[in-house]
Amino acid sequence: MKILVAVKRVIDYAVKVRVKPNKSGVETSNVKMSMNPFCEIALEEALRIRESGAAKEVVAVTVGPAQCADTLRTALAMGADRAVHVDAGAAPVLPLSVAKILRALVQVEQPGLLILGKQAIDDDCNQTGQMVAGLLKWPQGTFASKVVLDKEKQVATVEREVDGGLETLCLDLPAVITTDLRLNQPRYATLPNIMKAKSKVIKKVTPEELNVEIKSDLEVVQVTEPPKRKAGVIISSVDELIDKLKNEVVSCNILNCK
Ligand code: AMP
Repeated sequence: MKILVAVKRVIDYAVKVRVKPNKSGVETSNVKMSMNPFCEIALEEALRIRESGAAKEVVAVTVGPAQCADTLRTALAMGADRAVHVDAGAAPVLPLSVAKILRALVQVEQPGLLILGKQAIDDDCNQTGQMVAGLLKWPQGTFASKVVLDKEKQVATVEREVDGGLETLCLDLPAVITTDLRLNQPRYATLPNIMKAKSKVIKKVTPEELNVEIKSDLEVVQVTEPPKRKAGVIISSVDELIDKLKNEVVSCNILNCK
């Protein structure tokens, strides 16, 4: 079985994001970019499934501009067998377009499993996995915190954290899985593997070659910084705390007071 893993290049999670002066988006020039943390978890899970013998090949795929090849090099250094770069140019590609591209790649690659992160930390959309599962009419296990594959029965058992506890789903393969934070701890790429990954070939395709038109019905009107948090106060006694909770916190908007 083959596993396709979608990995996205995003601003590194440790970078303090700055809004552009013209409010058209966030600053990405001269900013450290990395693989989206949930995509690292998705790739790690695919590698573990391959190492357990339940899959033969892990293919990493990304959609975006030329610089996204760096993210694929990281995926190859972590252990992916192959990488596909869908060069979509510099314009942002929204989840529905990514989902259509992934559907087209699934039709070419015929994987048994498509694994994505549950969300990309740049747009926080949390949509692509659900959309591609809908387009493919494949079963989906989103926010997976545990995945067990039964190769014989061609079934994936996915445990997901829901409000009331844990939900367990059985998915007939092929299926789509999106990964939550607690699924695993991704490995680091070793220096020798980073060096080896530099010489591996990354297959390049364009959305046109996959017969996908990239268009968007959404327009970003403005991006602004969140409001500054008010300074906290130190409370000297429990009575004072109770008084503040009764008279100040209750009367203001709970969300703003968090
Ligand atoms: P989102 O729906 O944008 O929050 O993204 C959820 C997941 O979809 C990510 O963690 C990736 O696995 C995948 N994804 C989204 N955008 C891309 C992209 N441009 N290239 C590759 N994978 C993507």
